[in-house]
Amino acid sequence: MNRVPWRHSLVTRLLATSVLIAVAAIAATAWLATRTATRAITQEQGRSLTDDKGVYDMLVAYAAGHPDWSGAPEPIRQRAAKLGRRITLMTEDRQVIIDSGPGPSLRTARPSAVVDPLGLDLGLTGGTDRIDARAVGPYLLPAAERAALRGGARKTLACLTELGVSGRIVDTPSGRPTIELTSTDTQGAMIRCGAGRDENPTATEQRALRALGAMTAGCLGRRDGTTVVVTPQFRAYVLSAKQAADRRVAAIPAEQIADPATSARAGSCLEKSRRTQLQPYVAPPALLFVTDPDTGADRTTFTLTRGNTIRIVTVTGAVLLATIVVTVLAGRRLVRPLRALAETAGGPGPAAVTGRDEIAHLARALNASARQRRAMVSDVAHELRTPLTNIRSWLEAAQDDLAPTDDQLVALLHEEAMLLQHLIEDLADLAAVDAGTLRVHLEPLPVRDLVDQVTDVHRGTAQTAGVRLEAHVSGDPIVSADPVRLRQVIGNLVSNALRHTPPGGVVTVSAHEHIIEVRDTGAGISEENLPKVFDRFWRADESRGRATGGTGLGLAISRQLVEAHGGTISAASTLGRGSVFTVRLP
Ligand code: ADP
Repeated sequence: MNRVPWRHSLVTRLLATSVLIAVAAIAATAWLATRTATRAITQEQGRSLTDDKGVYDMLVAYAAGHPDWSGAPEPIRQRAAKLGRRITLMTEDRQVIIDSGPGPSLRTARPSAVVDPLGLDLGLTGGTDRIDARAVGPYLLPAAERAALRGGARKTLACLTELGVSGRIVDTPSGRPTIELTSTDTQGAMIRCGAGRDENPTATEQRALRALGAMTAGCLGRRDGTTVVVTPQFRAYVLSAKQAADRRVAAIPAEQIADPATSARAGSCLEKSRRTQLQPYVAPPALLFVTDPDTGADRTTFTLTRGNTIRIVTVTGAVLLATIVVTVLAGRRLVRPLRALAETAGGPGPAAVTGRDEIAHLARALNASARQRRAMVSDVAHELRTPLTNIRSWLEAAQDDLAPTDDQLVALLHEEAMLLQHLIEDLADLAAVDAGTLRVHLEPLPVRDLVDQVTDVHRGTAQTAGVRLEAHVSGDPIVSADPVRLRQVIGNLVSNALRHTPPGGVVTVSAHEHIIEVRDTGAGISEENLPKVFDRFWRADESRGRATGGTGLGLAISRQLVEAHGGTISAASTLGRGSVFTVRLP
């Protein structure tokens, strides 16, 4: 028996399927895991960014209020401990100023930010002013001025409260109080209470602003007596010598006599001058590093370490290996009975079948069918042997002049030949049934005509046998049937009945509706034999059956024909009394 090539083997196909499923499952899991991890890391990064921002903000606040970093180490250490990160400050040429703890060198690391209250990182603060409001320097009000302003502010607030407008006093970083309204000013209460009158700069502020104006004017580089006036809101106004003189006389607010033409350049000069003015009061700029204490990385990143990679590869490989091993084992188990079946199909004897699954089922069915085929061949050989042996022995006797070559011999030979032909026709019918080529051509058929035809054909035989043949048809039933085939069936039943009924008996063919019955008063069939009468080549009495011209196939063929019509055939009998064969058509 040829082996199936491996690429067509069921095991290979099974293996391909399960490997495919395993790979798909692994890929899906990996995708899900990566998605989840990425989301977690993004969140983690977001968290560390906010951490960085908080640290930056704290350090800028410190730097704005202190001329150096000497007091910063303690708060930095506390903050670092709270975040579980390492915070490092370095000068611009990478000299460590403050380090919250030990860790990898950061000489080449990228700083998280530059801490400089006079050059804010607008990306981190989200504001528009590059100079931190907390860097007040010379604008810091002395206690006396502060108290005076506070008194005025309180009065204004009391007036506002009287008018039904509520507010509160808030100090700016320089110590200047301002009134912040907590309800809307509906009646111009602010103006009526004279709010804003106190916004005029104090002596300290005037001094600082004047110095700033002089610096800005110097920056602008005009020598024509131009003065620069800076408001407490740090807006610069450039005044000609004449304008400045007028202003002094008329006390016109600087805003109203401003010359906007030079304002653009004045703006940048003002900022530069502010920076110069504040520089001595703030801590020098420093590089800020917020890093992981162990790795020195500035962010938590998704890194596949060597160990992790090996673990992933190992697990994936193990899953695939398990899939392959399990599939091959299961596949071989599955295929084993099929192989056994294929190997024994061509040889003698049935295949050994174990198990209860579909394959075992199939193997048993095939075994049974092989057994039937073998039995059929041996039956056919057996059936052919007897008539042929008869023919041969008579012919040999004639050759040896032991028997006369007369009419009687010819008649005997003819009878055997007829038997052989009958047998072969029956076999052809059965073969047609088995091959599925037997076709019935259904047409409306009056049962009365059919019964008449069959009884007419057998009347002669009945007379010779001394048996009375009767027909009873009630009504005019019409069935849908193949006339030739149905006649063959009923004819076979009648001929059987006549053959098994002794002289003086009666054979009755009766019909009503779609049921046709053939009843005889003959020998009958024993109860144990009754189920076998429809089997192929079965006869109650071997020699008698053959002697009377039966092949043992008649009833088997009849049953197939009736079933091809969609009907049923059944037999009932009492030994010694007679038998009834019933055909029911749909
Ligand atoms: P055969 O060609 O031998 O008649 P059948 O298939 O028609 O083959 O019948 C099978 C066997 O059934 C017969 O040999 C006979 O023993 C039995 N049988 C059939 N019909 C009758 C009957 N009417 N009465 C008694 N036995 C019958």
